[in-house]
Amino acid sequence: MLVFGHTAGAYLITQAPPFSKTKLNCNEMFLVLLAGNIYDTDVVWNFLAGIPLGAHHLFFGHTPLAGIIYFLIFYFLFRKKVGKPVLAMIALALFLHLILDDLSYIFSLVGLIPQTHPEIFWLFPFDGRRALILKDYLVNRGNYQFNIIDYMEYYTTTILPVFLLEIILAVSAVLIFTIKRLDVKNTVD
Ligand SMILES: [Zn+2]
Repeated sequence: MLVFGHTAGAYLITQAPPFSKTKLNCNEMFLVLLAGNIYDTDVVWNFLAGIPLGAHHLFFGHTPLAGIIYFLIFYFLFRKKVGKPVLAMIALALFLHLILDDLSYIFSLVGLIPQTHPEIFWLFPFDGRRALILKDYLVNRGNYQFNIIDYMEYYTTTILPVFLLEIILAVSAVLIFTIKRLDVKNTVD
């Protein structure tokens, strides 16, 4: 999933029960949205290293173990500044990112899209398939060079259900954000 879906997903966590009762300030909201996207900072070093973008889920940075490390970093940096509900939202946003990234595989298991390989290796480091798939990407990197037009065609046709879900998440987040804004404005008026 792209940044729109991850950001929307993290925002929706903050608006869903039981967290909807917790009022977040701008810094707290930023931390939750950051947690929803932080794994994807790996595209920067992948790009600089000339690694095909399609392979970025296969590195350590997109594993549950990395998620735990990210959470511990958030925890030790911000535990005195934010409350437990915000830390729980950060943990959920980190977890949701991996679920959303693995949706193409989950959908392929139920026949919604053609068969594909897992994007997230939940049992890392105890799953030998990750190294084999990654090796294929690296050995044949010439076949996997990133092209935004080809990728968007793949995203909006082959894995259309993931694309549709991303749109649903983004539209829901924008609607809820707008309704809340109007509510606040009406209260002030
Ligand atoms: Zn990701």
